[in-house]
Amino acid sequence: MMKNLRVGTSIHISGIVQGVGFRPFVYTLAQEYQLTGWVRNTTAGVDIEVNGDTKNINSFIQQLQNHPPPLAYIEEFSNTPKNAEDFKAFEIRQSKNSSGFQPISPDIAICSDCQLELHTPGDPRYRYPFINCTNCGPRFTIIKEIPYDRANTTMRDFDFCPMCKSQYELPTDRRFHAQPVACAVCGPEIWLEGGEQSISNGEAAIVAARVLLSEGGILAIKGLGGFHLACNAYDEQAVAKLRLLKNRPAKPFALMLPDITAVEDHCELDVIACKLLTGPKSPIVIMSRKANSRIASGIAPGQKTLGVILPYTPLHVLLLERSENFPLALVMTSGNISGLPLIKDNDEAIDELRDIADAFLLHNREIEIRCDDSVLYPIKETLLVLRRSRGYAPTPIRTQSPLPPILAAGAELKNTFCLAKGRRAFSSHYIGDLKNYESFDVYQKAIRHYEALFRITPEILAHDLHPDYLSTRYAQKRAQEEGQRLIAVQHHHAHLAACMAENAIQEGTPIIGLAFDGTGYGTDGTAWGGEVLLATYQQFERLYHLAPFPLPGGDLAIKKPWRTGLALLHMANMLDDASQTILNQTQRAILLHQLETRINTPMTSSMGRLFDGFAALAGVRCEISYEGQAAIEFEMLVDRAIEGSYPFTLQKTQILWQPALEALLFDLKYGTPTSTIAARFHNGLAQLALDVCIALKKQTGIHQVALSGGVWQNTTLLIKTYQQLSRYGFDILLHQQLPSNDGGIAFGQAIVAAQQLKN
Ligand code: ZN
Ligand code: ZN
Ligand code: FE
Repeated sequence: MMKNLRVGTSIHISGIVQGVGFRPFVYTLAQEYQLTGWVRNTTAGVDIEVNGDTKNINSFIQQLQNHPPPLAYIEEFSNTPKNAEDFKAFEIRQSKNSSGFQPISPDIAICSDCQLELHTPGDPRYRYPFINCTNCGPRFTIIKEIPYDRANTTMRDFDFCPMCKSQYELPTDRRFHAQPVACAVCGPEIWLEGGEQSISNGEAAIVAARVLLSEGGILAIKGLGGFHLACNAYDEQAVAKLRLLKNRPAKPFALMLPDITAVEDHCELDVIACKLLTGPKSPIVIMSRKANSRIASGIAPGQKTLGVILPYTPLHVLLLERSENFPLALVMTSGNISGLPLIKDNDEAIDELRDIADAFLLHNREIEIRCDDSVLYPIKETLLVLRRSRGYAPTPIRTQSPLPPILAAGAELKNTFCLAKGRRAFSSHYIGDLKNYESFDVYQKAIRHYEALFRITPEILAHDLHPDYLSTRYAQKRAQEEGQRLIAVQHHHAHLAACMAENAIQEGTPIIGLAFDGTGYGTDGTAWGGEVLLATYQQFERLYHLAPFPLPGGDLAIKKPWRTGLALLHMANMLDDASQTILNQTQRAILLHQLETRINTPMTSSMGRLFDGFAALAGVRCEISYEGQAAIEFEMLVDRAIEGSYPFTLQKTQILWQPALEALLFDLKYGTPTSTIAARFHNGLAQLALDVCIALKKQTGIHQVALSGGVWQNTTLLIKTYQQLSRYGFDILLHQQLPSNDGGIAFGQAIVAAQQLKN
């Protein structure tokens, strides 16, 4: 009989392989194939050594590569055969510190196994609000340091009870080395505080919280990545009260529904939306609202959509349990003071939200990193990412070619930063608007946290061209202190480069870029935003742009779109044709003076501002309470049956909007419905996109068109443009993983900076 030849092999795997049940999986697999050796986590990934016969080792490797645990993501897999060693068995070894970095799993929504246990009477974790396992639970938000071991998380404050300890140590258990594992005996607890009362019994706290919500109260809830403010979503008064207290008059609120059946009651649910809602990342998903939904209209005024999220922690599951007297639909909006960062600590919440919330549902598992809910919008076959945060960050975006150690500081609004090295670009979770000390502080700490977690010391700092962005100032100050090389990247070039890199465009390949945006600092010092660029990663040429118009009052014009409307009329000498528009005589007189004297009246070529101006003139809205409100409501009015369009014409390098304005005034004069006006404006822009691309294709032969910038979150315009361009054979590049808004800028900055260094 032939003796089995024992051989050895050592395997190194990198990617998301920690905190996702990888080692128990390897352990079980090794047992199955009768292999001896060991597995251990390192700061660079997972190392494995196995001995056994060749056939079994090959099968083992194949299984590892092709069927890893559901939440694992393998980036690199290397395998070096060697001589067999004398291992007695297969074991899981202590983690080892090594150089190199290691991606960290994002937070994962409660899994079906844990849901089942949560609802099984007699289970040791029956109704325990922190049940989790290797397949689900907190990760990124509780990690203080790597490697990902319990002592390096905020769970280090809790000592195991004997049951949790034995499950944690048993390789075949679903909780083997699940760092946040806990139970009611040894783990975190919830309690309710509010008014005079404090309820420390967890079950009673949930009951009281539900009573408060069903009676119209506002509840602050500590969740996974921070606090939410919740109220009954059927209760128009409660919603109005929350809006008033939070000083958020109109921006849509997210809605948490107990299960997918409830989602179907209120929304047009399709397969993609269903998969997203029930998947491990659990984002807010935007869907069309059903006409018969009884959800309070105050949730999303002026909108035809709802942003819905399902319970993603056991605490949410318990809070939204179906019962007769409970509303089954909660507003779930971020727990913060308007414009400030999401609140994550108990004391901070009680202090900051005491005038808003009637009670606080708290717990004592600390949140290391605050992380907002992600927001996705599936339309047709594409998926628009509006906010990439919890569940997605900090999973790196894989780049085509390796990058030197770069920190890209991002933009100002909807800020994210991006820390990159090699082929990994860690696009950060959502930081928010860097307009105040608090957000700026959170931003700086988050950057240092990423640098420590991923062991990257940036040698290059990329930033926006805008001299006054706090992100720009941060990069400049750091470079001054630490000596990194600084690279400034133009805003719209960064937008487009991000889109190109997500679509794996080759280095040196030029594309046509339609950067339709709010505003970004141009190379001439004016505010750009309606830009057609011929771009590679390294450079760009500004081939067309919207004919500039004044923004009387600068930021004030953004808040009051009627100012922009009047400025357009003034610029086009069409004031006399517009007597029937919204503007009253006093407003006109003041503004005309400002326009003529040009005091605080910057020029812009912004598409977002053009939208504002046209929307105001069409009578949609004169003042806004959140970014883009006028444009969003203008979009909602579009009558899809209307085919006509307002003319935008090309003259040299300018896109003239004056003919479109003239057509709008004509329609207004004859009492054309606003829905028709809205349609003709959108159709006109889609036609313009096509005209520009055809003109450029003639000149350059290029047929690849990238769409980036905040305006492309307008799905009506996006779909119309997509249809026009694809009918003419253009190859359209859309963002895949990142938002087209300024949340995608940092990644683009990193890409451009790396390419420019190659010169
Ligand atoms: Zn689980
Ligand atoms: Zn326990
Ligand atoms: Fe932008």
